[in-house]
Amino acid sequence: MTRFLLLWCFALPAFAQQPDYSKVEIRTQQLAPTVYMLVGAGGNLGLSAGADSVFLVDDQFAPLTPKIEAAIARITPRPVRFVLNTHWHFDHTGGNENLGKAGALIVAHENVRKRMSVENFIEFLGMKTQPDPKAALPVVTFTRDVTFHLNGDEVRVMHVPNAHTDGDAIVHFTKSDVIHMGDVFFNKLYPFIDTSSGGRVEGVVAAVDRALALAGASTKIIPGHGPLATRADLQAYRDMLATIAGRMGEHVRAGRSLEQAIAAKPTADFDAAWGKGFLTPDRFTEMLYKNLQAER
Ligand SMILES: [Zn+2]
Repeated sequence: MTRFLLLWCFALPAFAQQPDYSKVEIRTQQLAPTVYMLVGAGGNLGLSAGADSVFLVDDQFAPLTPKIEAAIARITPRPVRFVLNTHWHFDHTGGNENLGKAGALIVAHENVRKRMSVENFIEFLGMKTQPDPKAALPVVTFTRDVTFHLNGDEVRVMHVPNAHTDGDAIVHFTKSDVIHMGDVFFNKLYPFIDTSSGGRVEGVVAAVDRALALAGASTKIIPGHGPLATRADLQAYRDMLATIAGRMGEHVRAGRSLEQAIAAKPTADFDAAWGKGFLTPDRFTEMLYKNLQAER
């Protein structure tokens, strides 16, 4: 337990740390007549609320459920009918048990249910997670895509293989022109890629390309972490990631050590824009190095 706590304190980037929940406020931003972005602590939430039902993308941490429900109640009197998890990480699925018990149907890629059902070890963060209780697990799982028809929208949920994890989904509110990217996209922050959960940088780039193909100049893009984004922001993220991953690939293929790769400062020209967040430039370099090694 002590070891777990030590690792928890020192190894976890800010996005995964447990905040003081009593101080967290849920802020709501309306993106389209029936679509909203909610920001609290943990992954950004997406919401469709209208005449048919309430559809929620991700649910942060369990202690925040009452605050999230209160934020939704300011928009609609209806209860949450569907929860869609973009991936298994606890800062996106922590409210599942509460919302599932309250009657929501939890939907996710099949690998989300698989990973939530067992103990996991996220090596890069030195973090072990326990299996989730049955009530927190997705009840409906899919292998590739699933579409929800509600609130005048067609909500397309698309699995993107081996990206941030092996169970990621991106959510396209087609009529509202909004895309929720889950943790495939960290806006203005170097992203975490969970190598231990099957995440691969090439998969992140491929997933972003898929979203870029769906997005137009006025599309509103909800990142897993960071502020609301435009297509141009997503393109800048794609270019940053592909450029740095290309440089890191050369170091790994040339057989250079991690220390040599860090000393070469492969992120230097991007640090001012992306390196002030959860992962420092050196930690991000280390993460990519290990991720690319895992691919070999
Ligand atoms: Zn995540």
